[in-house]
Amino acid sequence: MTAEEIKSKFFMDKKNGALRMTDEEIAAADAFAEDYKLFLDDSKTEREAVGTLIVLAEQRGFVPFEPGKKYQPGDRIYLNNRNHALIMAVVGKAPLSEGINLMASHIDSPRIDLKQVPLYEDCDLALFKTHYYGGIKKYQWAAMPLSLHGVIVRADQSKVNVCIGEDESDPVFCVTDLLPHLAADQMKRSAGEIIKGEELNLLIGSRPFRDDEASDKVKMNIAAILMEKYNITEADFLSAELEIVPAFKAKDVGLDRSMVGGYGQDDRVCAYTSARALLDLTDTPEKTMMALMADKEEIGSVGATGMLGAFFKYMVEDMAAAHGIAGRTVLSASKCLSADVSAAMDPTFADVHDKRNAPFINYGTTIMKFTGSRGKGGSNDATAEFMGKVRKMLDDAGVLWQTAELGKVDQGGGGTVAAYIAELDVDTIDIGVPVLSMHAPFEVTSKIDIYATYKAFAAFNK
Ligand code: MN
Ligand code: MN
Repeated sequence: MTAEEIKSKFFMDKKNGALRMTDEEIAAADAFAEDYKLFLDDSKTEREAVGTLIVLAEQRGFVPFEPGKKYQPGDRIYLNNRNHALIMAVVGKAPLSEGINLMASHIDSPRIDLKQVPLYEDCDLALFKTHYYGGIKKYQWAAMPLSLHGVIVRADQSKVNVCIGEDESDPVFCVTDLLPHLAADQMKRSAGEIIKGEELNLLIGSRPFRDDEASDKVKMNIAAILMEKYNITEADFLSAELEIVPAFKAKDVGLDRSMVGGYGQDDRVCAYTSARALLDLTDTPEKTMMALMADKEEIGSVGATGMLGAFFKYMVEDMAAAHGIAGRTVLSASKCLSADVSAAMDPTFADVHDKRNAPFINYGTTIMKFTGSRGKGGSNDATAEFMGKVRKMLDDAGVLWQTAELGKVDQGGGGTVAAYIAELDVDTIDIGVPVLSMHAPFEVTSKIDIYATYKAFAAFNK
């Protein structure tokens, strides 16, 4: 054997994905990214993502799931869990006892929520008190335009939708930061406290209500606007979900326009690519296919709408019961691609990664056999056999993919929904798009990697 033969036969091909794709494939990736950016702009909260995806699903003939109904091959159904999580399914030709092919992502992203009693006035300015959600670097959220999204349930149970800051003509909001001239003490704080949790106060007004007698006139004026525009009272904030997110739209990044920058790509990039793979199905698949978009992943997958909730298990049990089989029979035969983003190698912060095992931008979708921290703690570690199957599936379909883990050993780490699905006796592995600046207000992904992830899900749907 020659060295050249050993090189080609033994070692993995480590070329940049853009050099392994045809011009047509790259053009297809660029076109896909246009749809994806629109999805990001329309889906800045989990609730909006559910709404956007249901519109797309209904356009393609999906109907609400009815427990007890016996579904036939080709049927398209969806389960809307409290407008926070969504399951879409296409029933396959094979009996349900042969299992489901599940793609599981999450549609919640790190953000800032309003407190229950948010409105106050100080120094003739009106502000909202907030409580951040998920793992954010708080200083990243100051001094930038922010929008307000969500719902308010009034005392009479009527519901009002709120979305301020997205239309070009809308006002925006912001968290103020200290000028450098007076920040000597602030700059001595540790980075986690440069902006403290209780300093994430949202600036919402400054002009006083015209009344000589009243106090807190700026707050009074905001109250007047809230009553007039939304017909709400202070108590209605108690039954509201109001989320503060970046006000800007998703954009191309780079002179070569090769990347997408935008808010909430963790993990709406995997939600969108997996949903599209399901929505784009024209033939009836062999296995029953499901795309699940969970809520609450960023705070531990808790609650009725998180992956630790029972909604997925209950839906499978209901579907199985209609065919006279046990839900666990279906689950034990099922396979899952746990779809979540990976931390892309960043040359500016390269030392947190083992570069031989880190995902690179433009090298394709990332397969992670395990995640976790401190000795794989909290990880789903897929079996060699399942990894072997996934590897073959991707290679057979010509999908651009790479392997990775989350940072150097003992550098930190994290988890996904994978472990909670695997607990149901489902073979599960992590897959997703590499991201730069993950959890920042402006996250960056590559169009080639987004498309490769879509192609991976499409291959799983065959
Ligand atoms: Mn994620
Ligand atoms: Mn995350």
